[in-house]
Amino acid sequence: MKPTLVLAGLGHGQLEILDRIEEIREHYEVLFIGKCQTVYTGAFPQVIAGLMNSATVRLPQLEPAAERILAIDPHLQTVQTEKGPFHYDRLVLATGAVSRGIGTPLKPMSQALLDRIDSSSQVTIVGGGKAGVELANTCVRTKKVTLYAKRVLPDVSTRRQKQMERLLVRSGVVVIKQRKNDESSEGLVLDATGVVPVNWWSESGLANPDQFIETDEYLRHYQFPNIYVTGDMASALNGGVDAVRSGRYVAERLLGETTRPFRKRQSMNILLTTTGHALLTFGRFSWHGRLPYYLKRFIDSRYVRHYS
Ligand SMILES: Cc1cc2nc3c(=O)[nH]c(=O)nc-3n(C[C@H](O)[C@H](O)[C@H](O)COP(=O)(O)OP(=O)(O)OC[C@H]3O[C@@H](n4cnc5c(N)ncnc54)[C@H](O)[C@@H]3O)c2cc1C
Repeated sequence: MKPTLVLAGLGHGQLEILDRIEEIREHYEVLFIGKCQTVYTGAFPQVIAGLMNSATVRLPQLEPAAERILAIDPHLQTVQTEKGPFHYDRLVLATGAVSRGIGTPLKPMSQALLDRIDSSSQVTIVGGGKAGVELANTCVRTKKVTLYAKRVLPDVSTRRQKQMERLLVRSGVVVIKQRKNDESSEGLVLDATGVVPVNWWSESGLANPDQFIETDEYLRHYQFPNIYVTGDMASALNGGVDAVRSGRYVAERLLGETTRPFRKRQSMNILLTTTGHALLTFGRFSWHGRLPYYLKRFIDSRYVRHYS
């Protein structure tokens, strides 16, 4: 009898695993727990900017056994869902993390959230990291935008930070260089301050309270090696590019194609700025111009086409 593999959540990494589902099914009885579709975050701002019609990606070739994972018993090897418990021999977690809780959460992302942003004439974005700055740049094309950010893009050089802040202001974004610490709201308040752990991880004994999940160098839970952790859930990973790479790696592990540890790499990010322009960052290196814009559009439309 084949061992049972439970794939939980339609995160970015899981899509990479599902891409190889035919091969995986030769080795495992596969159960998927999660929704049939999700929103690809890379393309989310492009939909807001009117550059793409949809950022929705879909579950390929599988019927979900249940929609929501509620808890896990790693000792009994069961996942609890709204449809009851399921046994696993191996489990891949890709259910992502959640927004911190200021105003309207951006994560988990949904089409309903995109529709809400679309129909709002005024938005306040909290957080000056890459997600917040890209959202401000795209929302300001059709809305009044306020951005609360102590610093704009703290990971890039000071010269680049100043340039990006000038561009935001020139486009009409009201940049308030402080934390948002009152309840007042100017339109729809979007939380772009980053993600935090979800309670069921610690309640299930997978992590300490308010901590991300620790893994070994093979992305297996440090205590329960039959559980793989991908994407934002894993303390060792960082951002969407890592989520995708971790999924590809776990697929290789499940298929017995690799015995090497997961290699962490510096990731490239590209965010939309003014019309027809984007900022590419790679560590402290950054490049602003048209070419990063075309590169981003190419990468994201190819991704959404592939998975939709
Ligand atoms: C506006 C914005 C733009 C971004 N742009 C970029 C970018 O350009 N590049 C980049 O690298 N990163 C980007 N990020 C970060 C990126 O979104 C995350 O790092 C990435 O989504 C993490 O993927 P993941 O696989 O962990 O899970 P997620 O993409 O968060 O997906 C988790 C999935 O699991 C589902 N789920 C949640 N809970 C459960 C449950 N209990 N049971 C079953 N299913 C569940 C969710 O509905 C969702 O479908 C952006 C973030 C934001 C907010």
